[in-house]
Amino acid sequence: MHLYSTGNKAETTDFRTAVKRGLAPDGGLYMPALLPRMPHSYWLDLSGDPMPVKARKLFDLLLSDDFTAAERSEIASRAFTFDAPVISLDEKMHILELFHGPTLAFKDFGARTMAAMMSVFARQEKEKITIITATSGDTGAAVARGFHGAPGVEVYVFYPSGQVSPLQEKQFTTLGDNITALEIDGTFDDCQRLVKACFADAQIRANKQLTTANSINIARLLPQMVYHIHAVVELLASQVDTAHQFAPTIPIVCSVPSGNFGNLTAGLMAHKMGLPVSRFIAATNRNHVVPDYLDGGDFQPKPSMRTISNAMDVGNPSNFDRMMDLYEQDRQAMARDIKGVWYDDEKTRDAIVQVWERYDYLMDPHTAVGYLGCREFREGAEHGLILATAHPAKFPETMEDLLPGVMETPDQLTAIVSREKKSIHVTAELDAVRDVLLKN
Ligand SMILES: *Cc1c(COP(=O)(O)O)cnc(C)c1O
Repeated sequence: MHLYSTGNKAETTDFRTAVKRGLAPDGGLYMPALLPRMPHSYWLDLSGDPMPVKARKLFDLLLSDDFTAAERSEIASRAFTFDAPVISLDEKMHILELFHGPTLAFKDFGARTMAAMMSVFARQEKEKITIITATSGDTGAAVARGFHGAPGVEVYVFYPSGQVSPLQEKQFTTLGDNITALEIDGTFDDCQRLVKACFADAQIRANKQLTTANSINIARLLPQMVYHIHAVVELLASQVDTAHQFAPTIPIVCSVPSGNFGNLTAGLMAHKMGLPVSRFIAATNRNHVVPDYLDGGDFQPKPSMRTISNAMDVGNPSNFDRMMDLYEQDRQAMARDIKGVWYDDEKTRDAIVQVWERYDYLMDPHTAVGYLGCREFREGAEHGLILATAHPAKFPETMEDLLPGVMETPDQLTAIVSREKKSIHVTAELDAVRDVLLKN
């Protein structure tokens, strides 16, 4: 795969370089130079394939220059070890559950794929790779778990002190070994800024081969296309008129709870390859700079605000440049495919209770934002596909408060609560962060 930077389309690089750099040298984000457009029949033929097979087939299309066939299978089967079931609330509203991995959120798919790819690189190159990543909660957990024990890789997780849920924190502060948690006195945006500053710092660069595992990394994004593909083709297949063997053409709208917009960007990339989705709903909380843009305002990054869907508390979404690039900076074209919406915490809480009472289904606060977007903007014959980004058990305070005694805690979590937190507490300054990185 050839990739260009959103900052400069003329210069391309190969996949391995793009993955190891994370960000392009000009500060832009890497984009695939070619996303081959596949016919309707290609997508329909994928239905029934298990997830690792769907993943491998996507990698075959996109990464045949970068990994051998055996490596592509190995990566797909190491990363896609859990399912993503589609649950129907009613005839027209469906939930894609992306939270059955080790950290109970969709980020497990991207993080595990990236870790599997890095292991292939490390095996071939025998040089140590340092991953630095900022998290508002779930990324850190998924990356730490995905990379824990990976040979030749060390990981630093930057997180805002006191601003992630205690359970999320436990998921990346209790592993040890090659995983170090940096507890920053600041916001998530400070953490993102510090990650960028480390990349720009000559002293750190001279000592470490840095890369990032944030959703800006193209290795995180590609596997996220897989479950969009998976859900859409299975939904299409479920609507086949078996009596007439009629190839279905139902319109599908995907509602994506969004923060840094990696998930939505992956969906848009699959759409560009011809995946039959008619449009997307970009659902956010009070941090709604992208919906504002889609509604005709300027793109105006803002400090992030805290909400109960805290993994989406992002004031300057990092994948926005990729979205602009996909639509060649054309707002109107983007707005034809994407409806931007946002909901406050009160509406989110009401939705959780309403869906429980009406459908017997328990949603976490992020999924609830996606549900609200789908409920309000799915139209007529459209089938709504809501991406359920996290398991409700990751947000016990909110869930207990709304629906006491209803939630059951999955095994993945019970094991972790009793373990001891270990973090290095630093101020939100590059000097402090550099000290820690260079000491290790
Ligand atoms: C990260 C995250 C999001 C936001 O995803 P983006 O790809 O950053 O838009 C939504 N929900 C949950 C639970 C998350 O962890």
